[in-house]
Amino acid sequence: MITEYKVNRKLFDEVMVPCYAPMTMIPDKGKGSRIWDQEGNEYIDFAGGIAVSCLGHCHPVMVKALKEQSKKLWHLSNVMTNAPALRLAKKLTEVSFAERVFFTNSGAEANEAALKLARRWAVDVYGPEKNEIIAFTQGFHGRTFFTVTVGGQEAYSDGFGPKPGNVIHVPYNDLDALATVMSDKTCTIIMEILQSEGGIIPSNPVFLQGARELCNKNNALLIFDEVQTGNGRTGTFYAYEQTGIVPDILSTAKSLGGGFPIGAMLTRGALAAHMKVGTHGSTYGGNPLACAVAEAVVDEVSKPEVLMGVKERENWFREGLETLNVKYNMFSEIRGQGLLIGAVLNDAWKGRARDVVSAAGDEGLLVLVAGIDVVRFTPSLVITREEVEEGLARLDHILAKLVSV
Ligand SMILES: *Cc1c(COP(=O)(O)O)cnc(C)c1O
Repeated sequence: MITEYKVNRKLFDEVMVPCYAPMTMIPDKGKGSRIWDQEGNEYIDFAGGIAVSCLGHCHPVMVKALKEQSKKLWHLSNVMTNAPALRLAKKLTEVSFAERVFFTNSGAEANEAALKLARRWAVDVYGPEKNEIIAFTQGFHGRTFFTVTVGGQEAYSDGFGPKPGNVIHVPYNDLDALATVMSDKTCTIIMEILQSEGGIIPSNPVFLQGARELCNKNNALLIFDEVQTGNGRTGTFYAYEQTGIVPDILSTAKSLGGGFPIGAMLTRGALAAHMKVGTHGSTYGGNPLACAVAEAVVDEVSKPEVLMGVKERENWFREGLETLNVKYNMFSEIRGQGLLIGAVLNDAWKGRARDVVSAAGDEGLLVLVAGIDVVRFTPSLVITREEVEEGLARLDHILAKLVSV
């Protein structure tokens, strides 16, 4: 038998690489949108593991899929294919524009695959000169060295020596700036439809349309990074469905596995053909356990009642947050789409998003930041009315305490 002993936060500092600063409490279990720590304290979860736990914690369909697959087969590697991976790939082609799927273990790896495909396609079709990547300031695409370089935040990408080259950043939503740098040397534009980590910043429809047209004109590919916006988060299975713009490549992860690590790059057949045998790969990508869970998640999330429920829940949040703002006057704007919501702190509270998050944690509510000025909410897509009301009641109490000091 494994002896379980109780750990505390101090052990983190003793044994972990200090690139995170986790809360003091250590969660022990979760159910729906509630979490309990080792002491039995209860938390309402409006963070959802950063837009991952789309069906809440330990949803029965995920538990069932994991249990069943865990008794059948765990791992093979890509020397063989497997039924859960093929079924999931087929489903992803049915719920999107895509004809081909490449599985990864994370969002960063899905973007890494997307960027490598774009570069490889351009080299194959137009020659080695066409390798420029255009991305946007305040964008976020993951933490591998290539993806963090493409993301537009130097705080994350500097200090690691020479970066992958020929990546250009322009301001988000600035179509003129984009048109100025775009040329026949551009192989791809990569963008979020709604910048998430960067502060819950929606894209402007004219900008999106313009980006698509510039790609067409310059023979460049359009990559939508839907790692955070995908899998029902904005009320459609992918957010691009609401824009009228179809990308050439789409990256997806986070909510795809509902808490089990998985990501995928989706694309069309003619592009996928450039990733010939041996050009790219992953030991775990397409792992049967991950794919079995993700298949159950995709089945559940793509139900019309779940997708329609996202809009309803967005309204509960918006109304609740507006009401609190009338009382406490802390937010200049509530923005975002579906259950990817940002409460933007006004001038009096500027730079204090982290204070709100930490005060919330002390009072049994889990929320996130998106930059230093935005409090972010990315709860489960099936969070109940009762859980939302309880969480907002706690937020009321938390904000009252914050304004009183
Ligand atoms: C979280 C995120 C990523 C990175 O995903 P990981 O699974 O952490 O590698 C990439 N792009 C966007 C838009 C994200 O929100």
